[in-house]
Amino acid sequence: MIDKTIFKDKKAVYYTLGCKLNFSETATIERTLQEAGIRTARRGEHADICIVNSCAVTQEAEKKCRQAIHKLVRTHPGAYVVVTGCYAQLSPQKLAQELGVDVVLGIDRKGEILQHLGNLDKKNEGEWYAQPSKDVRTFVPSCSRGDRTRYFLKVQDGCDYFCTYCTIPFARGRSRNPSVESLVAQARMAADEGGKEIVITGVNIGDFGKSTGESFISLIKALDGVEGIERYRISSIEPNLITDEIIEYMAHSRSFMPHLHIPLQAGSDHVLKLMHRRYDTSFFAQKIATVRRVFPDAFIGVDVIVGTRGETEELFEEAYNFIKSLDISQLHVFSYSERPGTRALNIEGKVSPAEKHRRSQMLISLSEEKRISFYERHIGREAIVLFEKPRPGITMSGFTENYIRAEYKNEKSLVNRLVKVRLGDFNDDKSALTVDEILEVL
Ligand code: SF4
Repeated sequence: MIDKTIFKDKKAVYYTLGCKLNFSETATIERTLQEAGIRTARRGEHADICIVNSCAVTQEAEKKCRQAIHKLVRTHPGAYVVVTGCYAQLSPQKLAQELGVDVVLGIDRKGEILQHLGNLDKKNEGEWYAQPSKDVRTFVPSCSRGDRTRYFLKVQDGCDYFCTYCTIPFARGRSRNPSVESLVAQARMAADEGGKEIVITGVNIGDFGKSTGESFISLIKALDGVEGIERYRISSIEPNLITDEIIEYMAHSRSFMPHLHIPLQAGSDHVLKLMHRRYDTSFFAQKIATVRRVFPDAFIGVDVIVGTRGETEELFEEAYNFIKSLDISQLHVFSYSERPGTRALNIEGKVSPAEKHRRSQMLISLSEEKRISFYERHIGREAIVLFEKPRPGITMSGFTENYIRAEYKNEKSLVNRLVKVRLGDFNDDKSALTVDEILEVL
């Protein structure tokens, strides 16, 4: 039994690095601590507890994590410091030695933070609790309201794919998922709290069902039936796992949005092979064509990594031309980062940082061209926007069904409402379309 009286008047701060899944899990940790009486510290307030949810996807992410710890220790002297997440799982001992850290918790202990706060007495030496990733089997559930309007529902964790450049299977363990039934119950709770949109998150979402004998298609069919949730988005799904059946179902469903995020990672067959990805460029191109056939106006986001070992200038050029030929809406460009323990380190042909930067800039410009031309096609059209709570000093905005950001003057009564609008021209920095006219509040 935890003695919650020690948490009276205590305040906590949270620092998250990395993916949507991490942000969603931090929100769940925050809610657990709040239920135990620990208030979230306001800006400028001294916190008694600092929680860091770390990422290990790049060297840069690890560096940022250590910097964040140092800053939190300086800003909140005497605070009890907990570090969890992927970096904590991969290097628990190292992080436990960082100045001021009290406890490091591996990936399967994220749900046990409260138990590890003890009396909030600082430790002489940091402690760590993490079991080898291959033994991690627990699924820590998470369904949380994001910082604005959307909910993030974690449906799956871990990965069995072992792409050669990736540390995620080592950090998050093997693929696992809860039952469809329990996820439907969580979606119902989100609807009861007033949630209208859910983003389905996970590490390798299309792998859903392996541990329960169910399937991703059975999950989306069941979620589609949850009353009150008007919109679902799938955060990201591997090209070989998004079957034509799933695409067809989404297109005719009640609530799945015309919005897909599909990782390509490399646009040449040679590099895809080096990465041990499970498809080639022609398979990927066909997948995009299928999405376009059933969802002509879908927003399609695509992840690409530049400068992987073995990606020569010629191969990059091949990739660039392939990506340019795809009818997609935006790219998410990442620079390859060397990760200890990965098989990619055995591949010849390191790419210099300057060259990685050049390639990444080329793809970022291509992405902007594609996004702007996608947005342009929608000027003057009708769309349904779910408006989000505006951040201080920023114009209110929301997303259309197909993920176009639409801006409108701040009007509180429209927050978290589905509103039929006519889309106008671009805003000043071309990051969004403006709303020309409100047609109907649904
Ligand atoms: S599919 Fe590949 S890149 Fe994605 S998490 Fe699994 S191993 Fe990493």
